[in-house]
Amino acid sequence: MAELKFNNVVKQFGKTEVVHGINLDIKDKEFIVLVGPSGCGKSTLLRMIAGLEEISSGTILIDNKIVNDIAPKDRGLAMVFQNYALYPHMNVFNNMSFGLTLMKTPKEEIKQRVEEVGHILGLEDLLLRKPHELSGGQRQRVAMGRAMVRKPSIFLFDEPLSNLDAKLRIQMRAEIKLLHQRVNSTMIYVTHDQVEAMTLADRIVVLKDGHIEQVGTPLDLFSKPVNTFVAGFIGTPPMNLVECKINKEQDATFIQFEGGLRLPVPDKKGIDLSSDQKMIFGLRAEEIVPVDTRTQLPKEWMFKGNVMVFEPLGNETQLHMDIMGVRMMSRSEGRRIIRANEEINLGMNLNEMHLFDAKTTRVVY
Ligand code: ADP
Ligand code: MG
Repeated sequence: MAELKFNNVVKQFGKTEVVHGINLDIKDKEFIVLVGPSGCGKSTLLRMIAGLEEISSGTILIDNKIVNDIAPKDRGLAMVFQNYALYPHMNVFNNMSFGLTLMKTPKEEIKQRVEEVGHILGLEDLLLRKPHELSGGQRQRVAMGRAMVRKPSIFLFDEPLSNLDAKLRIQMRAEIKLLHQRVNSTMIYVTHDQVEAMTLADRIVVLKDGHIEQVGTPLDLFSKPVNTFVAGFIGTPPMNLVECKINKEQDATFIQFEGGLRLPVPDKKGIDLSSDQKMIFGLRAEEIVPVDTRTQLPKEWMFKGNVMVFEPLGNETQLHMDIMGVRMMSRSEGRRIIRANEEINLGMNLNEMHLFDAKTTRVVY
């Protein structure tokens, strides 16, 4: 069992407050990812959980017990850092068992735990090697093994894959997810990479400037971002976000862009937009696709646009479009050959549009 609770957790460094009253409940065995741009307070939060950083005010509870004043080693957790610094002169076995030896764990038990973890991580044949005889990915696995042999109830990861190349990162990502399925511990994982967050998390916590912007499952955040920050942060390419104005005519509501483009707003229950309201229109690139014979969208949702940049990715095609002076990105499955400066017809799935208040940036539609 390992639940974790933040109650109004604040962190100040001197007079500067960098974490502003965080409230968060993490369930037992949950995989939580804290994601946000550099400097938003991710590491600070993790270090406060670990006990490596004092909590300025508020409380952190593990299994309903306040841990503010409990020593790091007595909190039942293990941390894996970006710079995982293995002892260069020790072999893999000794690197993994070092912590247990310090805790005076019996030799037989150490051997058993290291072998068990070595098996889970596929390190059986490497136990006698020194770190310099290992690849980057293998070293990262040893660092995880070192945390695992201690059988923590909570794993803390601070950008553990940032130093690896792109290919290895994807591999290790899957390994960490497998690890979670096997050991069933609570995991709290910090990254600035939204793709890592989306692929790993049961729930994602999006942070900005020491505040929580939104908490939700990856697909929640993707389809129902609460503000423009989350909308632009989650998803690749980022959601198209364009300033606009609301225009009402008789019974119909339109979005008017500078440059002339005008889009009808589909009716949604309980939402009343007023004329001249300044908004930010949001639509994901995959909801804007070149029209072909398979397109099933109403005529009013089709528009002519000029191709500015054509990006053939093989499995999909990305286009930077100019639609009557509005720049938007289109993304469609499959291969197409489209030339820059070509004029094409685009279909927009306006059922998937979002509208954010231009001032508060919060979602209103
Ligand atoms: P992240 O991990 O999201 O990149 P950090 O948690 O490391 O961000 O830092 C959050 C903020 O706190 C940053 O503005 C950083 O400069 C500041 N900070 C972190 N550690 C210290 C420290 N020891 N002293 C003063 N400021 C710090
Ligand atoms: Mg950090």
